[in-house]
Amino acid sequence: MSCSHNDALGLYISIPFCRSKCTYCNFASGVYPASEHARYVERLIQDLAATGAWAARMNLELPRQVDTVYLGGGTPSLLEPELLARLFGAMRAEFDFEPEAEITVECAPGQLADETLESLAAAGVHRVSLGVQSFIDREAQVSGRLHNRATVEEDLRRLRGAGIANLNVDLIAGLAGQTPASWEESLAVLVESGVPHASVYMLEVDEDSRLGREMLAGGARYHAGLVPADDAIAQMYSRAIERLGAAALGQYEISNFCRPGFASRHNLRYWQRRPYLGLGLDASSMLREGLQAADPAGPGYVLRSTTTDDLGAFLEGPEPGSPRTGLRPWGGEPVETAWLSPARQHEEAWFLGLRLNVGVDVAALEREFGRETVARAMETVGRLAENGLLTSDGKTVRLTAQGQLLSNDVFQEFLGLAAEESEMSLGTHGG
Ligand code: SF4
Repeated sequence: MSCSHNDALGLYISIPFCRSKCTYCNFASGVYPASEHARYVERLIQDLAATGAWAARMNLELPRQVDTVYLGGGTPSLLEPELLARLFGAMRAEFDFEPEAEITVECAPGQLADETLESLAAAGVHRVSLGVQSFIDREAQVSGRLHNRATVEEDLRRLRGAGIANLNVDLIAGLAGQTPASWEESLAVLVESGVPHASVYMLEVDEDSRLGREMLAGGARYHAGLVPADDAIAQMYSRAIERLGAAALGQYEISNFCRPGFASRHNLRYWQRRPYLGLGLDASSMLREGLQAADPAGPGYVLRSTTTDDLGAFLEGPEPGSPRTGLRPWGGEPVETAWLSPARQHEEAWFLGLRLNVGVDVAALEREFGRETVARAMETVGRLAENGLLTSDGKTVRLTAQGQLLSNDVFQEFLGLAAEESEMSLGTHGG
């Protein structure tokens, strides 16, 4: 499926506040006083009110219908209940939530007050993602998490009691001190918990995290010396696919597993290239060019942008509508903005679509981008299939198990299919 005119919108709201910083974290999140929470939400509400005018000025299609909402971060559950209520009120004032819209909020185990839980349920939230990472208390603790297994189990019980049963648990393979046996135990506890969705990530240590700096510089504070080797992490990941699959949590994307019918509709839209608007710190958007585009029947251009990851700049940025706002009405200039030509979208269709276990539907891409364009990509597919990284019957192309482990290398091969000149920078196209 691809992004098409009249498609409903996904809303992503970034809440960059955490109670403590995890050792491996490189997200734009931090520990800030509650007074910043209120300022931040105020700013988000201003931005929400300004999006329609911005989209019109940029000639972007901004659907009013919303079918998925995702509050991520950070730890959105740290927002005070009245701030959460105000934020949801503002979203509903600007957009029409479809009756069956999927509304997800990320929560940190042990950091979900009763009033917050009530406020989430009252706001229509029916899906919660819990950043568990490990069910082994020692592993969670050395990673900087503030919970233990009992806390997680208690939160799952409370969430279900509040009517929020569509639950995800995140696990990370590769935490300091993790072993094949402890990983097996985390997987077993996850399965036992009965959650219908799990995300499993292989630890990628970024040099901007505390753990990454310690791995480069040496030291023992964050237990960098206990991080498993890459091939051990790969084995844990492969074991997760097997173990979760055997428990009816089938893999549907490189890092995601679910019982039938419980795939994350919001995350699917990223891989299916359906439109979304991201607000707040370090939030990405993907929106189509409006219908007054030169060729409304063709694929048209798509705008991708990401907001600043600097909280000060976001809070202090020019007021919506002021001449200093430049291209975006909120939080100052986006740090990254690009109009993607159809040729670039075709590349994306490959490396995003291949993340999904259903794979890439070749005929659908031919309809969207033309046979000739897709034929060039199929040469790359043939080469990667010979190397055992992809399978193809000419109709559907999928990653093999080996391809999933080396997915970044595979995706790299699809970059550069588009001629350089077909990508136009902001300022020479649109708005
Ligand atoms: S809870 Fe998430 S965003 Fe916050 S510090 Fe930990 S990994 Fe980073």
